[in-house]
Amino acid sequence: MTSSVYIHIPFCNHICSYCNFPKFFYNKEIVLKYLKSLKQEILNKYQGEILKTLYIGGGTPSSLDIEELQELFAILKIFKFNKNYEFTIEVNPENLTFEKLKLFFENGVNRISMGVESSKNKNLEYLGRHHDFNLVKKKIKMIKKIGINNINVDLIYALKKQSLEDLKNDLINFLSLDVSHISTYSLEIYPHTILGIKKEQAILEDLDFCMYDLIRKTLTKNGYLHYEISNFAKKGYEAKHNLVYWNNDYYYGFGLGAAGYLNNIRYNNTTSLKNYLNGNYLETEERLSQNDILSYALILGFRKIAGLNKKDFFKKYQVNIKDLYNVKDLLKQGLLKENNTNIYISYDRIYVENSILINFVGE
Ligand code: SF4
Repeated sequence: MTSSVYIHIPFCNHICSYCNFPKFFYNKEIVLKYLKSLKQEILNKYQGEILKTLYIGGGTPSSLDIEELQELFAILKIFKFNKNYEFTIEVNPENLTFEKLKLFFENGVNRISMGVESSKNKNLEYLGRHHDFNLVKKKIKMIKKIGINNINVDLIYALKKQSLEDLKNDLINFLSLDVSHISTYSLEIYPHTILGIKKEQAILEDLDFCMYDLIRKTLTKNGYLHYEISNFAKKGYEAKHNLVYWNNDYYYGFGLGAAGYLNNIRYNNTTSLKNYLNGNYLETEERLSQNDILSYALILGFRKIAGLNKKDFFKKYQVNIKDLYNVKDLLKQGLLKENNTNIYISYDRIYVENSILINFVGE
């Protein structure tokens, strides 16, 4: 049963130095064509299921102007929603206006995810972002004032020349925003990005670990629940949409470069704007074998700090989780832990999670 939708809006007002997402410079003429094609893609695929989560990401959805956003919300009327659905939209501080926010609120948006990244101008410049922290504070206030209290902010760390003291300041400033959710990302430098072309290097792994540790200690000490390797939420504010991914559940992905998972098929849309505008949406699709499905279930599920519920796992896949791969050995070695209900990665091994998850790739 599918009850989630991701929609990609691939337009931005500027291109950040680290950006590895499918995106293009905002252009009004192209946006209107894009929305037309998006509508057709949704009409072709959507089967009328009742949705529990809708996530509009990018790119920068808030780079669209009021008229385009109105058109986007008109398209969303195709969907049917559950009464308490979670509706998230990504925004950047510099192009989020009161008028746009009002439109979001009136159209059912109840969760905002803002690309804040850092509170220091030096870092923001390095990342190629076009805002400062004063603007962030103003916009977060505006969001709360309009009545949206479920707010995520993204934090990027592990930047060149960033010290632990710098990160500590960032964390203090982020905490002062008093938002319900914080997503953290260790900066990765991809070859085709501006930072990659400039041959910038990632920081040393030891420092990266110390930063990760500082983040989790600081945020958990200040009332946030560490519920996924990189995500922290106040109680009850875990991202329902992202949990769909980590729970290996089905979801539609619409838009350029979007990924989806339906009826045991994982698919990726084209990243070519020309193809997308011509209605050639799909780039790849792969029907998963039973082994692939189980592999995804473990790799995604163990990203959650609580891990996987043994009973639910059996109910969903008709297999005992302990009989899969080398789960029993990993339990013996203490890399995986177990309580009455769940199996999870030992908290002191979360940082090296990938080296554990590699055990569950293929069979
Ligand atoms: S705003 Fe987001 S999607 Fe756009 S360039 Fe920056 S990081 Fe990439």
